[in-house]
Amino acid sequence: MKDLILKAKNKHDLSFDEIVSLLKYENSDEIFVAANEVREKYVGNDVHIRGLIEFSNVCKQNCKYCGIRAKNKFIERYRLNEDDIIKTVSEATNLGYKTIVLQSGEDDYFDEEKMISLIKKIKNYDVALTLSIGEKTYEDYEAYKVTGANRYLLRIETTDEKLYKTMHPNMSYENRKQCLYNLKKIGFETGTGCLIGLPNQTIESLACDILFFQELEADMIGVGPFIATKNTPLEKDLNGDISLSFKVMAIIRLLMPDINIPATTAMETLLDDGRKIALQSGANVVMINITPQIYRLKYNIYDNKNKASISYCEIEKLLNSINRKIASGFGSHKKS
Ligand code: SAH
Repeated sequence: MKDLILKAKNKHDLSFDEIVSLLKYENSDEIFVAANEVREKYVGNDVHIRGLIEFSNVCKQNCKYCGIRAKNKFIERYRLNEDDIIKTVSEATNLGYKTIVLQSGEDDYFDEEKMISLIKKIKNYDVALTLSIGEKTYEDYEAYKVTGANRYLLRIETTDEKLYKTMHPNMSYENRKQCLYNLKKIGFETGTGCLIGLPNQTIESLACDILFFQELEADMIGVGPFIATKNTPLEKDLNGDISLSFKVMAIIRLLMPDINIPATTAMETLLDDGRKIALQSGANVVMINITPQIYRLKYNIYDNKNKASISYCEIEKLLNSINRKIASGFGSHKKS
Protein backbone atom coordinates (compact mmCIF):
# COMPACT_ATOMS: atom_id res chain seq x y z
CA MET A 1 0.00 0.00 0.00
CA LYS A 2 2.84 2.37 0.79
CA ASP A 3 4.09 1.93 -2.80
CA LEU A 4 0.64 2.68 -4.14
CA ILE A 5 0.40 5.90 -2.13
CA LEU A 6 3.87 6.86 -3.34
CA LYS A 7 2.83 6.17 -6.93
CA ALA A 8 -0.29 8.32 -6.53
CA LYS A 9 1.77 11.07 -4.93
CA ASN A 10 4.41 11.16 -7.66
CA LYS A 11 2.57 10.12 -10.81
CA HIS A 12 -0.98 11.32 -10.04
CA ASP A 13 -2.33 8.34 -11.90
CA LEU A 14 -4.03 5.22 -10.56
CA SER A 15 -6.08 2.45 -12.15
CA PHE A 16 -9.63 1.66 -11.09
CA ASP A 17 -8.43 -1.32 -9.03
CA GLU A 18 -5.74 0.76 -7.35
CA ILE A 19 -8.26 3.45 -6.36
CA VAL A 20 -10.56 0.78 -4.94
CA SER A 21 -7.79 -0.71 -2.83
CA LEU A 22 -6.80 2.73 -1.50
CA LEU A 23 -10.44 3.45 -0.62
CA LYS A 24 -10.51 0.19 1.31
CA TYR A 25 -7.17 0.78 3.04
CA GLU A 26 -7.65 1.05 6.79
CA ASN A 27 -4.65 3.22 7.56
CA SER A 28 -6.14 6.39 6.06
CA ASP A 29 -3.72 8.70 7.86
CA GLU A 30 -1.00 7.73 5.40
CA ILE A 31 -3.23 8.87 2.54
CA PHE A 32 -4.08 12.12 4.34
CA VAL A 33 -0.42 12.95 4.97
CA ALA A 34 0.45 12.33 1.30
CA ALA A 35 -2.49 14.45 0.12
CA ASN A 36 -1.44 17.25 2.47
CA GLU A 37 2.07 17.21 1.00
CA VAL A 38 0.77 17.26 -2.56
CA ARG A 39 -1.56 20.14 -1.67
CA GLU A 40 1.34 22.15 -0.26
CA LYS A 41 3.59 21.41 -3.21
CA TYR A 42 1.05 22.33 -5.90
CA VAL A 43 -1.28 24.95 -4.45
CA GLY A 44 0.69 26.16 -1.44
CA ASN A 45 -0.51 27.28 1.98
CA ASP A 46 -2.98 29.90 0.79
CA VAL A 47 -6.64 29.11 1.36
CA HIS A 48 -9.26 30.64 -0.92
CA ILE A 49 -12.39 31.94 0.78
CA ARG A 50 -15.66 31.99 -1.13
CA GLY A 51 -18.76 33.86 0.01
CA LEU A 52 -21.83 31.72 -0.56
CA ILE A 53 -25.24 33.34 -1.08
CA GLU A 54 -28.16 30.89 -1.05
CA PHE A 55 -30.56 33.14 -2.91
CA SER A 56 -33.58 30.85 -3.42
CA ASN A 57 -34.70 27.57 -1.88
CA VAL A 58 -37.45 27.10 -4.45
CA CYS A 59 -36.74 23.93 -6.42
CA LYS A 60 -38.58 22.01 -9.12
CA GLN A 61 -36.53 18.81 -8.66
CA ASN A 62 -37.06 15.99 -6.19
CA CYS A 63 -33.60 14.66 -5.32
CA LYS A 64 -34.38 12.09 -2.65
CA TYR A 65 -31.68 13.20 -0.22
CA CYS A 66 -32.28 16.94 -0.42
CA GLY A 67 -34.27 18.94 2.11
CA ILE A 68 -35.38 21.60 -0.38
CA ARG A 69 -36.86 19.07 -2.86
CA ALA A 70 -40.12 20.29 -4.43
CA LYS A 71 -42.27 17.75 -2.59
CA ASN A 72 -41.12 18.88 0.85
CA LYS A 73 -44.16 20.84 2.01
CA PHE A 74 -42.72 21.44 5.46
CA ILE A 75 -40.27 24.17 4.57
CA GLU A 76 -41.00 27.81 4.00
CA ARG A 77 -39.83 28.89 0.56
CA TYR A 78 -38.00 32.18 -0.04
CA ARG A 79 -36.32 34.18 -2.76
CA LEU A 80 -33.90 37.03 -2.18
CA ASN A 81 -34.62 40.05 -4.34
CA GLU A 82 -31.93 41.59 -6.51
CA ASP A 83 -31.31 44.47 -4.10
CA ASP A 84 -30.74 42.11 -1.17
CA ILE A 85 -28.35 40.00 -3.21
CA ILE A 86 -26.35 43.03 -4.37
CA LYS A 87 -26.26 44.45 -0.85
CA THR A 88 -24.84 41.13 0.40
CA VAL A 89 -22.24 41.15 -2.39
CA SER A 90 -21.26 44.71 -1.57
CA GLU A 91 -20.79 43.92 2.15
CA ALA A 92 -18.81 40.80 1.32
CA THR A 93 -16.42 42.58 -1.02
CA ASN A 94 -15.86 45.24 1.66
CA LEU A 95 -14.89 42.48 4.05
CA GLY A 96 -12.35 41.13 1.56
CA TYR A 97 -14.19 38.33 -0.22
CA LYS A 98 -12.77 37.74 -3.71
CA THR A 99 -15.31 35.18 -4.90
CA ILE A 100 -19.08 35.15 -4.66
CA VAL A 101 -20.96 31.89 -5.14
CA LEU A 102 -24.64 32.20 -6.02
CA GLN A 103 -26.47 28.99 -5.18
CA SER A 104 -30.14 28.04 -5.35
CA GLY A 105 -32.59 25.27 -6.02
CA GLU A 106 -33.66 24.83 -9.63
CA ASP A 107 -35.93 27.85 -9.58
CA ASP A 108 -37.36 28.88 -12.96
CA TYR A 109 -38.36 32.28 -11.58
CA PHE A 110 -34.70 33.23 -12.01
CA ASP A 111 -34.82 32.92 -15.79
CA GLU A 112 -32.05 33.92 -18.19
CA GLU A 113 -33.04 37.59 -18.12
CA LYS A 114 -33.02 37.82 -14.32
CA MET A 115 -29.73 35.94 -14.05
CA ILE A 116 -28.10 38.17 -16.67
CA SER A 117 -29.17 41.28 -14.79
CA LEU A 118 -27.78 39.84 -11.53
CA ILE A 119 -24.49 38.76 -13.10
CA LYS A 120 -23.99 42.22 -14.65
CA LYS A 121 -24.56 43.96 -11.33
CA ILE A 122 -22.32 41.59 -9.38
CA LYS A 123 -19.54 41.96 -11.93
CA ASN A 124 -19.46 45.70 -11.20
CA TYR A 125 -17.62 44.63 -8.06
CA ASP A 126 -14.07 43.32 -8.14
CA VAL A 127 -15.01 39.66 -7.60
CA ALA A 128 -14.98 36.33 -9.35
CA LEU A 129 -18.48 34.90 -9.71
CA THR A 130 -19.46 31.26 -9.38
CA LEU A 131 -22.96 30.01 -10.20
CA SER A 132 -24.52 26.86 -8.73
CA ILE A 133 -28.09 26.87 -9.95
CA GLY A 134 -28.47 23.47 -11.55
CA GLU A 135 -29.12 22.13 -15.03
CA LYS A 136 -29.75 24.78 -17.70
CA THR A 137 -29.59 24.83 -21.50
CA TYR A 138 -26.35 25.33 -23.43
CA GLU A 139 -27.65 28.76 -24.45
CA ASP A 140 -28.32 29.77 -20.85
CA TYR A 141 -24.84 28.71 -19.74
CA GLU A 142 -23.31 30.56 -22.69
CA ALA A 143 -25.25 33.73 -21.85
CA TYR A 144 -24.10 33.59 -18.20
CA LYS A 145 -20.50 33.18 -19.35
CA VAL A 146 -20.63 35.98 -21.91
CA THR A 147 -22.11 38.29 -19.26
CA GLY A 148 -19.18 37.64 -16.95
CA ALA A 149 -19.80 34.62 -14.71
CA ASN A 150 -16.48 32.85 -14.25
CA ARG A 151 -17.20 29.49 -12.66
CA TYR A 152 -19.99 26.95 -12.34
CA LEU A 153 -20.61 24.23 -9.77
CA LEU A 154 -22.72 21.22 -10.67
CA ARG A 155 -22.07 18.03 -8.80
CA ILE A 156 -22.61 14.85 -10.77
CA GLU A 157 -23.69 13.47 -7.33
CA THR A 158 -22.90 9.87 -8.39
CA THR A 159 -21.68 8.23 -11.60
CA ASP A 160 -23.53 5.02 -10.74
CA GLU A 161 -26.33 5.36 -13.30
CA LYS A 162 -28.70 3.03 -11.51
CA LEU A 163 -28.21 4.82 -8.21
CA TYR A 164 -28.46 8.19 -9.99
CA LYS A 165 -31.86 7.16 -11.35
CA THR A 166 -33.23 6.11 -7.96
CA MET A 167 -31.93 9.25 -6.26
CA HIS A 168 -33.14 11.71 -8.93
CA PRO A 169 -36.70 10.97 -10.07
CA ASN A 170 -37.45 12.43 -13.51
CA MET A 171 -33.90 13.59 -14.05
CA SER A 172 -31.44 12.23 -16.58
CA TYR A 173 -27.90 11.15 -15.80
CA GLU A 174 -26.97 11.73 -19.44
CA ASN A 175 -28.21 15.31 -19.29
CA ARG A 176 -26.33 16.08 -16.08
CA LYS A 177 -23.14 14.77 -17.63
CA GLN A 178 -23.83 16.73 -20.82
CA CYS A 179 -24.32 19.91 -18.77
CA LEU A 180 -20.84 19.43 -17.28
CA TYR A 181 -19.26 18.94 -20.70
CA ASN A 182 -21.15 21.98 -21.98
CA LEU A 183 -19.83 24.10 -19.10
CA LYS A 184 -16.27 22.99 -19.86
CA LYS A 185 -16.71 23.69 -23.56
CA ILE A 186 -18.10 27.18 -22.93
CA GLY A 187 -15.01 27.90 -20.86
CA PHE A 188 -16.32 27.94 -17.32
CA GLU A 189 -14.00 26.89 -14.55
CA THR A 190 -16.08 23.85 -13.80
CA GLY A 191 -16.63 22.35 -10.39
CA THR A 192 -18.31 19.06 -9.70
CA GLY A 193 -18.31 16.38 -7.03
CA CYS A 194 -20.26 13.61 -5.42
CA LEU A 195 -22.09 12.56 -2.31
CA ILE A 196 -20.50 9.92 -0.15
CA GLY A 197 -22.51 7.24 1.59
CA LEU A 198 -25.79 7.36 -0.31
CA PRO A 199 -27.89 4.26 0.43
CA ASN A 200 -26.61 1.37 -1.76
CA GLN A 201 -23.58 3.28 -3.02
CA THR A 202 -20.49 1.09 -3.38
CA ILE A 203 -16.78 1.75 -2.98
CA GLU A 204 -16.41 0.74 -6.63
CA SER A 205 -18.85 3.43 -7.71
CA LEU A 206 -16.86 6.03 -5.74
CA ALA A 207 -13.76 4.93 -7.66
CA CYS A 208 -15.72 5.54 -10.89
CA ASP A 209 -16.68 9.00 -9.61
CA ILE A 210 -13.00 9.84 -9.09
CA LEU A 211 -12.07 8.61 -12.58
CA PHE A 212 -14.91 10.69 -14.02
CA PHE A 213 -13.56 13.84 -12.33
CA GLN A 214 -10.19 13.20 -13.99
CA GLU A 215 -11.78 12.51 -17.36
CA LEU A 216 -13.80 15.74 -17.21
CA GLU A 217 -10.66 17.64 -16.20
CA ALA A 218 -12.68 19.39 -13.53
CA ASP A 219 -11.22 22.57 -12.07
CA MET A 220 -12.78 22.08 -8.66
CA ILE A 221 -14.08 19.04 -6.81
CA GLY A 222 -16.25 19.22 -3.72
CA VAL A 223 -17.32 16.05 -1.98
CA GLY A 224 -19.19 15.50 1.25
CA PRO A 225 -20.99 12.86 3.26
CA PHE A 226 -24.67 12.25 2.61
CA ILE A 227 -26.65 13.55 5.61
CA ALA A 228 -30.03 11.95 6.31
CA THR A 229 -32.50 14.83 6.40
CA LYS A 230 -35.98 15.09 7.83
CA ASN A 231 -38.97 15.27 5.53
CA THR A 232 -37.11 13.52 2.72
CA PRO A 233 -37.56 9.89 1.58
CA LEU A 234 -34.12 9.12 3.06
CA GLU A 235 -34.77 10.59 6.53
CA LYS A 236 -34.35 7.20 8.23
CA ASP A 237 -31.21 6.18 6.37
CA LEU A 238 -27.71 6.24 7.81
CA ASN A 239 -25.45 9.23 7.34
CA GLY A 240 -22.44 8.83 5.06
CA ASP A 241 -19.12 7.83 6.56
CA ILE A 242 -17.06 10.92 7.31
CA SER A 243 -13.68 9.18 7.21
CA LEU A 244 -14.52 7.69 3.82
CA SER A 245 -15.38 11.24 2.70
CA PHE A 246 -11.93 12.47 3.77
CA LYS A 247 -10.38 9.51 1.98
CA VAL A 248 -12.18 10.23 -1.29
CA MET A 249 -11.14 13.88 -1.02
CA ALA A 250 -7.51 13.00 -0.29
CA ILE A 251 -7.31 10.60 -3.24
CA ILE A 252 -8.74 13.31 -5.50
CA ARG A 253 -5.91 15.63 -4.34
CA LEU A 254 -3.33 12.93 -5.11
CA LEU A 255 -4.71 12.42 -8.61
CA MET A 256 -5.57 16.03 -9.46
CA PRO A 257 -2.79 17.88 -7.65
CA ASP A 258 -3.42 21.47 -8.79
CA ILE A 259 -7.22 21.77 -8.62
CA ASN A 260 -9.30 23.60 -6.03
CA ILE A 261 -10.79 21.38 -3.33
CA PRO A 262 -13.09 22.79 -0.64
CA ALA A 263 -13.33 21.62 2.95
CA THR A 264 -17.09 21.18 2.71
CA THR A 265 -19.72 22.25 5.22
CA ALA A 266 -21.20 18.73 5.26
CA MET A 267 -17.87 17.45 6.63
CA GLU A 268 -17.97 19.99 9.48
CA THR A 269 -21.64 19.19 10.10
CA LEU A 270 -20.90 15.52 10.78
CA LEU A 271 -17.67 16.09 12.69
CA ASP A 272 -16.43 18.93 14.90
CA ASP A 273 -13.12 19.98 13.37
CA GLY A 274 -14.14 18.33 10.10
CA ARG A 275 -13.16 21.50 8.24
CA LYS A 276 -9.74 21.61 9.88
CA ILE A 277 -9.09 17.93 9.18
CA ALA A 278 -10.12 18.42 5.54
CA LEU A 279 -7.73 21.38 5.19
CA GLN A 280 -4.94 19.11 6.44
CA SER A 281 -5.88 16.24 4.13
CA GLY A 282 -5.89 17.96 0.75
CA ALA A 283 -8.38 20.85 0.82
CA ASN A 284 -7.42 24.46 -0.07
CA VAL A 285 -10.78 26.24 -0.21
CA VAL A 286 -13.44 27.20 2.34
CA MET A 287 -16.93 28.42 1.53
CA ILE A 288 -18.44 30.77 4.07
CA ASN A 289 -22.18 31.18 4.19
CA ILE A 290 -23.02 34.88 3.79
CA THR A 291 -26.75 34.42 3.14
CA PRO A 292 -28.68 37.02 5.18
CA GLN A 293 -29.41 35.44 8.57
CA ILE A 294 -33.21 35.42 8.24
CA TYR A 295 -33.07 33.10 5.23
CA ARG A 296 -30.19 30.90 6.30
CA LEU A 297 -32.17 28.34 8.28
CA LYS A 298 -34.57 27.96 5.38
CA TYR A 299 -31.93 26.75 2.94
CA ASN A 300 -32.04 23.38 4.65
CA ILE A 301 -30.57 21.09 2.00
CA TYR A 302 -29.51 18.89 4.92
CA ASP A 303 -30.10 18.93 8.68
CA ASN A 304 -27.86 20.82 11.13
CA LYS A 305 -26.05 22.61 8.31
CA ASN A 306 -26.04 25.89 10.21
CA LYS A 307 -24.31 24.36 13.18
CA ALA A 308 -21.25 24.28 10.92
CA SER A 309 -21.37 27.99 10.00
CA ILE A 310 -18.14 29.93 10.39
CA SER A 311 -17.31 33.63 10.09
CA TYR A 312 -14.48 35.30 8.21
CA CYS A 313 -12.74 36.10 11.52
CA GLU A 314 -13.08 32.58 12.81
CA ILE A 315 -11.63 31.14 9.63
CA GLU A 316 -8.67 33.53 9.91
CA LYS A 317 -8.02 32.17 13.42
CA LEU A 318 -8.43 28.56 12.33
CA LEU A 319 -6.00 29.04 9.45
CA ASN A 320 -3.51 30.74 11.74
CA SER A 321 -3.56 27.74 14.04
CA ILE A 322 -2.49 25.42 11.22
CA ASN A 323 0.06 27.76 9.63
CA ARG A 324 -2.10 28.61 6.67
CA LYS A 325 -3.49 31.96 5.53
CA ILE A 326 -6.25 33.53 3.51
CA ALA A 327 -5.20 33.97 -0.11
CA SER A 328 -5.17 37.47 -1.58
CA GLY A 329 -6.11 36.64 -5.19
CA PHE A 330 -9.29 35.40 -6.86
CA GLY A 331 -8.23 31.79 -6.46
CA SER A 332 -8.88 30.47 -9.91
CA HIS A 333 -7.55 27.07 -10.92
CA LYS A 334 -3.94 27.44 -11.98
CA LYS A 335 -2.88 24.50 -14.09
CA SER A 336 0.64 23.34 -13.41
N1 SAH B 1 -29.61 23.08 -7.40
C1 SAH B 1 -28.17 23.16 -7.44
C2 SAH B 1 -27.57 23.23 -6.03
C3 SAH B 1 -27.82 22.01 -5.18
S1 SAH B 1 -27.46 22.14 -3.46
C4 SAH B 1 -27.64 21.97 -8.22
O1 SAH B 1 -28.41 21.13 -8.68
O2 SAH B 1 -26.45 21.91 -8.45
C5 SAH B 1 -25.73 21.79 -3.43
C6 SAH B 1 -25.33 20.37 -3.08
O3 SAH B 1 -25.80 19.98 -1.80
C7 SAH B 1 -25.86 19.27 -3.97
O4 SAH B 1 -25.16 19.20 -5.17
C8 SAH B 1 -25.74 18.03 -3.10
O5 SAH B 1 -24.58 17.28 -3.42
C9 SAH B 1 -25.64 18.58 -1.68
N2 SAH B 1 -26.70 18.00 -0.82
C10 SAH B 1 -28.02 18.07 -1.01
N3 SAH B 1 -28.66 17.34 -0.07
C11 SAH B 1 -27.72 16.80 0.73
C12 SAH B 1 -27.74 15.93 1.87
N4 SAH B 1 -28.88 15.48 2.36
N5 SAH B 1 -26.57 15.59 2.44
C13 SAH B 1 -25.41 16.05 1.94
N6 SAH B 1 -25.32 16.86 0.87
C14 SAH B 1 -26.46 17.23 0.26
